[in-house]
Amino acid sequence: MRLFKPNEYHKTIYDIDLVKLYESGKRLILTDLDNTLVGYDILLPTNEIIDFKEKCENLGMKLMIISNNKEKRVQLFAKELDVPYYSSAMKPFKRGFKKMSLGYKTDEVVIIGDQILTDIVGGNRMGYYTILVDVINYNNEQFKTRINRFIERIILNLFSIKGEKK
Ligand SMILES: [Mg+2]
Repeated sequence: MRLFKPNEYHKTIYDIDLVKLYESGKRLILTDLDNTLVGYDILLPTNEIIDFKEKCENLGMKLMIISNNKEKRVQLFAKELDVPYYSSAMKPFKRGFKKMSLGYKTDEVVIIGDQILTDIVGGNRMGYYTILVDVINYNNEQFKTRINRFIERIILNLFSIKGEKK
């Protein structure tokens, strides 16, 4: 069950203490795209996301996107944000994580995502530091994602993850 538990939980990516991550030795942030950075219907990075990326980089941490969504969607967003990306990643499988984290030590890598079954399980399998955030917008989610959400609610209740913290 340890695989399902994130190291941290926050409402949004902006609630994450980036300074603390850097000070604890983190150097690479692999983030999910859909419903973590923006909703499905937002095609391009918002000013807030651009600020977030700059904060990471100014501190000395690299930001990259790893998404199970298709090349077309992920590429458009990542190119505009000017970050490396990996699409159709099939999280929680390890391939995409391994490729993106080349050159980094396991304890230097952070995963941020809104889904336990893909982002958090995938990150935990790799031994990364995992951060769960709230879903931005449930609209337009694929059927597969909605099934995952159902299982997720059971897991969240089991751990009372969202009840534990503010
Ligand atoms: Mg997501």
